[in-house]
Amino acid sequence: MAHILIAGGGIGGLATALSLTRRGHRTTVLERAPAFAEIGAGIQLGPNAFHALDRLGVGEAVRARAVFIDELRFMDGTTGEKVAAMELTGAYRERFGNPYAVVHRGDLHQPLLAACQELPGVTLVPDAAVERYEQDADGVTVHTADGRSFSGAALIGADGIRSTVRAQMLGDGEPRVSGHTIYRSVIPIGKVPEELRWNTVTLWAGPKWHFVHYMIGGGEYLNLAVTRDNGATVPVTGRATDRSHVLEQFPGIGATARRLLELGDDWREWVLCDRDPVDGWTDGRVGLIGDAAHPMLQYAAQGACQALEDAVVLAELLADVDGTAVAAGLEKFNAARRERTGRTQEVARLMGSELYHPAGERAVERNRMLSAFTQEELYDQVSWLHGERAFTAV
Ligand SMILES: Cc1cc2nc3c(=O)[nH]c(=O)nc-3n(C[C@H](O)[C@H](O)[C@H](O)COP(=O)(O)OP(=O)(O)OC[C@H]3O[C@@H](n4cnc5c(N)ncnc54)[C@H](O)[C@@H]3O)c2cc1C
Repeated sequence: MAHILIAGGGIGGLATALSLTRRGHRTTVLERAPAFAEIGAGIQLGPNAFHALDRLGVGEAVRARAVFIDELRFMDGTTGEKVAAMELTGAYRERFGNPYAVVHRGDLHQPLLAACQELPGVTLVPDAAVERYEQDADGVTVHTADGRSFSGAALIGADGIRSTVRAQMLGDGEPRVSGHTIYRSVIPIGKVPEELRWNTVTLWAGPKWHFVHYMIGGGEYLNLAVTRDNGATVPVTGRATDRSHVLEQFPGIGATARRLLELGDDWREWVLCDRDPVDGWTDGRVGLIGDAAHPMLQYAAQGACQALEDAVVLAELLADVDGTAVAAGLEKFNAARRERTGRTQEVARLMGSELYHPAGERAVERNRMLSAFTQEELYDQVSWLHGERAFTAV
């Protein structure tokens, strides 16, 4: 069995440490931040994420704080018309073998962290910003910004969309700035009038904007996320923003959506980035997973789900691998994952431009198309993504 280094202790990095260690490897997770933690708001988890979480042994811990929603509801944000709703109870759960849920990011990260802390084979190293790696026939050595070195049989870059490991491996520059700004706020459910509390993920689609809201934290909070295609050119990550600024961005928003938007407080903004899919994310003993490998817009709500799948598949493919065979195992992982993750990257972009942001006649046509789907046809549309064990590699 091998000692495997992991750069980054986010959702993908911790899931990878857990899956590899449960398969008998030893792992060391190098995290740039002074503590292992997730900030931020809510996150949607498809059934595919729960299949992965169960395989990682933390499915029940995540379910304990999850909100299991009844439907994904698509509204016309200008007219207020309900366009379509995909039911997520009975037939959906039966078909996909697990529920669709929403959680606070912390309620996903924490069970992964706790499970890693319980495993003697996982070493967690905070304050360790990976700067570069070097490798030879015997192994790989990672150097951190503060001058320390760590050696192992392999390195997995799980260091997110601005991955240092990727920069050295692929040298493909900064991620693409989408031109879309997302404003997010989490408010206590007590502030939300009863008639506006729905057990759904609701999406209001308007011209060049869309607004998503759902309950998180076991139902204690409402998560608001409103996105505008405003041509922003500079990446922004979690900057505090005035409430008045957010409200000004959405002048055409319909009455009910506006009431919900006005509840928001303590807004933060992000300018979203992604990348085009690439064929390869390996360099000998070094591989990438999660956003480091295939960063995507959040419109398919799948970035973290795909990172969890990566963790499971990687451990399957490295299960019986010792230090010498690790490079071949990483190649297999790359081959097993690139088509599915690349398709998800592309679909996420298309969902923004073709479903969420059209205006005028294109919006009317979209409404016509979505409202004509039966439940079964809606399930067919997401089956490749949500389907049970769709990601099993071997
Ligand atoms: C607004 C928004 C909404 C989203 N909604 C959803 C959703 O509903 N469902 C879903 O599945 N996904 C969603 N996503 C995507 C999801 O957040 C990401 O895909 C997921 O967090 C990727 O996990 P990761 O571990 O690969 O990367 P990250 O979460 O970015 O973690 C990377 C970790 O590496 C650390 N790090 C960075 N550089 C270094 C370094 N040089 N050395 C050491 N450590 C380093 C970071 O501190 C961090 O801890 C959303 C994303 C956004 C922006």
